[in-house]
Amino acid sequence: MEMGGTSTMGRLLHVNLTSAEFSEVRLPPEILAAYLGGKGIGARLLLDWVPEKADPLGPDNALMFLTGPLTATTAPAMRACIVTKSPLTHTFLDSYFGGYFGPEIKYAGYDGIVLTGRSPEPVYLLVDHRGPSLQPAGDLWGTGAIETGDRIRQRRKDSGIKVACIGPAGENGVLYSLVCCDTNRHAGRGGAGAVMGSKNLKAIALKGNELVGLFDPNRFLRAVAEANHEIGLSEDCRVLMEAGTASAVEFADASGLIPARNFTDGTSKLAAKLGDHGQKQKLWLSRAACFGCPIGCSQMGAVRTGKYKHFITDIVEYETAAMLGTNLEIGDPRAVAHLNRLCDDLGIDTISAGACLGFAFEGAEKGIVPTDGLALAFGNADVAAELIERIVKKEGELGALLALGVKRAAKALGGEAEAIALHVKGLEMPAWGPRGTPGMGLAYMTADRGACHQRGFPAGYEATGEAWNGKPVEALALEGKAAMVKSLQDYLAGTDCLVKCDFGAMGVTADTYARMLNAATGRSVVASFFDLLGERVWNTTRLFNLREGMTTADERLPRRFIDEPLPSGPRQGHRITESDMKYLLQDYYALRGWDEAGRPTPETLHRLGIEPGTR
Ligand code: SF4
Repeated sequence: MEMGGTSTMGRLLHVNLTSAEFSEVRLPPEILAAYLGGKGIGARLLLDWVPEKADPLGPDNALMFLTGPLTATTAPAMRACIVTKSPLTHTFLDSYFGGYFGPEIKYAGYDGIVLTGRSPEPVYLLVDHRGPSLQPAGDLWGTGAIETGDRIRQRRKDSGIKVACIGPAGENGVLYSLVCCDTNRHAGRGGAGAVMGSKNLKAIALKGNELVGLFDPNRFLRAVAEANHEIGLSEDCRVLMEAGTASAVEFADASGLIPARNFTDGTSKLAAKLGDHGQKQKLWLSRAACFGCPIGCSQMGAVRTGKYKHFITDIVEYETAAMLGTNLEIGDPRAVAHLNRLCDDLGIDTISAGACLGFAFEGAEKGIVPTDGLALAFGNADVAAELIERIVKKEGELGALLALGVKRAAKALGGEAEAIALHVKGLEMPAWGPRGTPGMGLAYMTADRGACHQRGFPAGYEATGEAWNGKPVEALALEGKAAMVKSLQDYLAGTDCLVKCDFGAMGVTADTYARMLNAATGRSVVASFFDLLGERVWNTTRLFNLREGMTTADERLPRRFIDEPLPSGPRQGHRITESDMKYLLQDYYALRGWDEAGRPTPETLHRLGIEPGTR
């Protein structure tokens, strides 16, 4: 690290893939002051740079890899993100990734890389000591994401090159394709990989040698020590250190929130097999961590027994264990690890994949989806693997249909199919059912990228009764949930401008984030800065989504959660009614300073200082 200066690099690399031109973009100081980095800068640039109603898979869409002011410093648990217009939802999309690729963006000299246009031929972007260049990638087209990174490093004869790339799914335009960063870290949700594929961009390979400065190194080191101390004191972080997110499987099951059989139930007899204890019996694991992270929630290893023996894997984290495990009634963690690896290498989001397979299995039972000769059935891991491969190739009627996600698949099939399509705004549900936790339902309805548990997670309070703002949370109450959701969303959006990892944020306080930011950049902010920043960002993504055609009619839960009470578990009998949704939404809009159609009022935009932007 360099002494003096600031931890931001002060410029973005803009690559026009159509013309193969490179330029540096220096953002106006008032935009940097108002939006900080990561999600905030991405939201502002998306609104300003991408033309209204642009095709997400067309050359006008922008694909942005963005860091935050603490990325590549020793601040613990920092990451980077991709911001683009989602081909799955046609809304704002931010998708986060850990590993080492994010820091390398800054070592290459930039706060972010913005890609527009479309290359006439498959290429990869290389940024090294010679500067940026586009390299031919025709021979890499069709290769899996894991092999792609290895081949680029071999070709460049440099094992230290950091690579973000797509698999065949992104090339083929599967609408929930991911971007693989450093082999086992993924920007999974919302289809950023399909946007990358539409640009004929197979990969970005970085090798930087720039130094990242600090405004006040001694003050920064003291703030980092405090952040590490807070992580050490956090019970949530301790659990993640020991067991990773798979530890949540049994909690979600005991709380009645886990998806089972395409969310027809909220408990699963398979939970114990798929939790961290069950996985440790079948997988050999050792801890791994992203850049500068003392938590190390990731575990790498191999399958020890059975037909997947020797197969190298990552621990199956909670969302994947639930969506490809309990949701599909597949209880062997080795089989789920295999499906996980298949999705990662071919390049699709495991959450959306699990939802699409659940839709297909239930649809086959009901006789409302084409089977293409497959014995589609819950519990059949071999058929699940075959269907994943067909989705990636868009093979057959079913593969082509499911490559579009459940919203479009249900619309194409018509009739009863909509009742078994689990999504909000087109983004498939993550693995936390909202019945009996209305705050979680509201968080899903209003999340800017569609059904997302990372834009606010009130279920954590509703399921445990843990106090929020000094008061115990009553799970079924509607009153107060809008305020809770707004507050959680604002804070997370504010700290997503840093760009923090959600798990680090379970320990690090807002005050310490502010101290690290001030010492790294020379700013003078206090803890409440992140709430106001997040509210500004949330309203900016709202403006984008409204402009792209989203309406309040899109802010509703899937029919299953409205029509069908949970059949078992501690939340048995619960659902979220139409009147619950209406009450929650109107309360939420009023608190946000939005009109009844969910549009920010001129007073709200003025209060937040949302002004015409960067172009
Ligand atoms: S907590 Fe896990 S995902 Fe987050 S930065 Fe650390 S290792 Fe990466």
